[in-house]
Amino acid sequence: MRLKIVAGNWKMNLDFEEAEDLISAIADELENIDLGHAEVVICPPFPYLEMALDIAIESVFSVGAQNISHFDNGAYTGEVSARMLASMDVDYCIVGHSERRKYFNETDEIIAKKIDQAIEHEFITIFCCGELLSERQAGKHFDVVREQIEKAVFPLSEKEFYNIVIAYEPVWAIGTGVNATPEQAQEMHAYIRNLIASRYGKDVADETSILYGGSCNSKNAPEIFAQPDVDGGLIGGASLNADEFIEIVKAIL
Ligand code: PEP
Repeated sequence: MRLKIVAGNWKMNLDFEEAEDLISAIADELENIDLGHAEVVICPPFPYLEMALDIAIESVFSVGAQNISHFDNGAYTGEVSARMLASMDVDYCIVGHSERRKYFNETDEIIAKKIDQAIEHEFITIFCCGELLSERQAGKHFDVVREQIEKAVFPLSEKEFYNIVIAYEPVWAIGTGVNATPEQAQEMHAYIRNLIASRYGKDVADETSILYGGSCNSKNAPEIFAQPDVDGGLIGGASLNADEFIEIVKAIL
């Protein structure tokens, strides 16, 4: 049975005290929940990872980084390498988020290098893909997502691919308050699963977790997560409120 996952992407939000309060509140609420075969991941900004890891020791959530460098090591001022994060025992990382593509000019080629770094250092990698509104309106959304996956992920061997989680995040839904409908999410997730089956076989595709991201909240999560090919969510804004985030977690159980 494939893993159900809810991952919180805090982006560049909160000061240290706010971050500590939020993560402590989430840890407290998780004490009353049996996650079963499900995983909760919290991805705070880099400076808060160590604090999050300390709290995670006594809790059931995992910790992820929002980004990693495509370089291995060396004179790259401001970068944070996969090797550094792995040495801190960070388990997950997000790669290919649309905000990184848009504001930091990350191309499919750079993203592929980041994935190589993540795989080399044994991260579970949440790979984000998704189309712009104009691309959906032009009927190109399947082609766009296929190309993103083919370029960044499909160079991986089957063994390497086992550490990949796909997050389908239509760019028009991120931070806009306009989520994909459950039908739109299911249609794209089924397409992605078929794509994975054509590259790695049906057994691998059936074991791959495919998350939905884009204005997901406690109200729309139950219906979106009920779709057969939706295995949870990557949550931005709604992960900044402990009660709201926990309600979303409950929707995968
Ligand atoms: C995200 O940034 O990955 C995301 C899904 O954001 P939001 O939930 O705020 O749309």
